[in-house]
Amino acid sequence: MKKLLFLPIFSLMFWTCSQESLLDDSTKEYLEVQAASEHASTPSGPILSRESLEIDKDGFYVMGDMLLTEDQVNELFNPTDAASSTGFRRWPNCLVTYKIHPTNPPTNFARQNLFAAMRQIEGLTNIRFRYAARFAPRSSYLEVRGGDPNDGGGSATVGKVSSSRLSLDGNAIITVARHELGHVLGFKHEHQRSDANLFLTYQLGNLNGAQNCSNMSNVARLPSVNVHHTPYDFNSVMHYWSCLCNGGIGGGCTNANSIFLRRADNTRIGVNFDFSDGDIASLNAIYNCGTPPGNPTDPIDPIR
Ligand SMILES: [Zn+2]
Repeated sequence: MKKLLFLPIFSLMFWTCSQESLLDDSTKEYLEVQAASEHASTPSGPILSRESLEIDKDGFYVMGDMLLTEDQVNELFNPTDAASSTGFRRWPNCLVTYKIHPTNPPTNFARQNLFAAMRQIEGLTNIRFRYAARFAPRSSYLEVRGGDPNDGGGSATVGKVSSSRLSLDGNAIITVARHELGHVLGFKHEHQRSDANLFLTYQLGNLNGAQNCSNMSNVARLPSVNVHHTPYDFNSVMHYWSCLCNGGIGGGCTNANSIFLRRADNTRIGVNFDFSDGDIASLNAIYNCGTPPGNPTDPIDPIR
């Protein structure tokens, strides 16, 4: 699973309006580490290559559990493009409308976890989730689908795109729902920040071909402008754990077979089950519409 956070693109968007509020002590410390690192001999680590991205049958570029449009990929590899300034693709007015796929819904278990995660976000931010109107155009809402009924992962488009989609496998726990909703709201993976090499030591020989471990597309750094203005967040629900490829059910994960370690002390990064304080602060910085579109309510489940 992933971690959300701060991509340079949207950082620029809220930097000017939230500059003072974001410059707390941890941010200042982060900026100092970043500045000092520019003079250190830190290995660059892997950087995503466009050639490594597969395209699915619907035309999305697949980066692990993230589905990107061609425009989004173009922006990644051409961060000076004017489009990068709007690249975060925030849902307008803090409102995410959704529908459940009529013939391929997630299991009851996965749906309840999704709705619990939605309620949690509504309680902590101004973001609201509402069932889309019956005749809403496909470009306006998030389609929620079922995935592999026997697996526990998920996938999602990133931000609001013309055919936003979220898929949850049959055994997806609430952590997976939180992570995928993070993508839906616009976050990419924290561990794929362009400055992640300052904080991680990579062991890519441990990409073993297992699910999520067949290539570097969901591990490598994104080639975007290196401006974050937010502290690197090891605790974000958008950050993968070290044991991604060698620690599933049954364990067996060691430092030696981890996909990456903390650079500072060579320790493993565990699973982040819940949103971090940084995740919530980030959501509130980006979705800072003054008045939320209504009070928190229980999401509508048309199947229930
Ligand atoms: Zn992810």
